[in-house]
Amino acid sequence: MTTKRVYITTAIPYVNAGPHLGHALELVQTDALARHRRLRGDEVRLLTGTDDNSLKNVLAAEAAGLTTAELVSANATQFASLHVSLQLAFDDFIRTSTDRRHQPAVARLWRACAAAGDIYRAWYEGLYCVGCEQFYAADELDSGRCPEHQTVPERVAEENWFFRLTRYQDQLEALITSGRLRIVPEFHEREVLAFVRGGLQDFSISRSRERAHGWGIPAPDDPDQVIYVWWDALGNYISALDYGTWGEAYQCWWLEADERVHVIGKGVLRFHAVYWPAMLLSAGEPPPTSILVHEYLTVNGRKLSKSHGNAIDPAALSERFGADALRWWLLSEVAPAADTDFTVERLVARADTDLAKALGNLVNRTVAMVIRYRGGRVPAGGPGPLAGCLRRLLADVDAAVAAYDLRAAAGAVMEAVDAANRLVNEARPWVLAGTHRSAELDAILAALVYACRSIAREVTPFVPGLAARIVRQFGDGGVEVRPAEPVQPRLGPAHGGEIRGPQQAREGTAMPGSAQSSSGSPSKTGPEGSRLAPSPECGRISTL
Ligand SMILES: [Zn+2]
Repeated sequence: MTTKRVYITTAIPYVNAGPHLGHALELVQTDALARHRRLRGDEVRLLTGTDDNSLKNVLAAEAAGLTTAELVSANATQFASLHVSLQLAFDDFIRTSTDRRHQPAVARLWRACAAAGDIYRAWYEGLYCVGCEQFYAADELDSGRCPEHQTVPERVAEENWFFRLTRYQDQLEALITSGRLRIVPEFHEREVLAFVRGGLQDFSISRSRERAHGWGIPAPDDPDQVIYVWWDALGNYISALDYGTWGEAYQCWWLEADERVHVIGKGVLRFHAVYWPAMLLSAGEPPPTSILVHEYLTVNGRKLSKSHGNAIDPAALSERFGADALRWWLLSEVAPAADTDFTVERLVARADTDLAKALGNLVNRTVAMVIRYRGGRVPAGGPGPLAGCLRRLLADVDAAVAAYDLRAAAGAVMEAVDAANRLVNEARPWVLAGTHRSAELDAILAALVYACRSIAREVTPFVPGLAARIVRQFGDGGVEVRPAEPVQPRLGPAHGGEIRGPQQAREGTAMPGSAQSSSGSPSKTGPEGSRLAPSPECGRISTL
């Protein structure tokens, strides 16, 4: 297996409010992908951050009676601190308003495109949705309203700078059809291709200073214009690599990377799969190699929103149920190609069934038997009867992760757990212990310990805390197990836990930010919970 160099990013959310569960989904998925690749020996750099320069932030600050800098700083801090509550292992965190690497990079990208003849000034009049920070054509609206926000867009008329997107139509089509840019799941790739083939239009890449309320990055050599927030935000992926100063990180992690991967929500697909690659092609830089698209979460059947009072704070949820339980729900139950409904009951049921009952029980009974029958010493031996199942585990997890189907990867782990539990029930070590079949008992115990260790390794990207507790329970790879204790608490009411709804679990006033809200897709019923019986997934053709 050859080592690859992989650069992985999340989208950077608007920070007009604190994080909600939709942001947690994207962060946890991306973290799990990065951890999985590291586990397989790849060199990985993981970037996340915040989009501070959005007009939405300015309007939210005005409404709250704060300066924009105060509001974005307070909210960005909450996003950054998710690395503790969600156990995220990112390498870098960029804030577009304060990070010194950002502005020079955005200006450099602008100048490179200008030098290619792709930036020009023109008069423009159009319908603008501040929620999306984008212009809409009249036929893209839903009875005159933004399809994402259901608000009436404002009519804007001004002279702006434009990017010559039309010039890249053929190159974009070739990039995608050749597989040099992979968009996953595939129905989103078809959507992007249809949009590109439908004919592209140049897009406005600056705003008057006045309309931007004086907030944002000034256009190079034109201080009366502020760079369009999407141009600015997309630039973060390379500004964080010191593209602005042509730094070593840019060479290493962009130019020389084997894979440049962006994980995004479906609402920002057009920006990432059309605008961004075209900007890079214009500037003479390599485009991303993969765009992985997730769907949205609904809560109790309704889309995440402040007005519905269901914008759950992921940090509060993690504090209540543990990072492992929250991560496991996000990774094992969220559908790869349809919106998924979150309820606290589903989170608890999934964690209890999979982590506490199936996996926790396997670990606990294995340790207990090694202590009872072998004085805590692990008998020598390999995976024995579980060898085939553990080989399949690795292959299945790899295939699922490559297809950006983390739910299937989690399912593969649980299949191995179930197989190991079945072995205990069928081999009945407690019966063997009362006979002279000592070698047989040794082989079973060795196979079970081997399986628990393999499973802990495979599940580390999903539930790093629980995986570490399992590793410790088996003596950190040594020959002696430690005294058996539960590795995962049961959360459900039958076990002393009280299940509270999102209103109570929530603290603070989280409301939708960009990862999901530029969203506001109509609420849909997602899979009703069980991985074993997922409801049919629909390949929704959303309007790009
Ligand atoms: Zn909108």
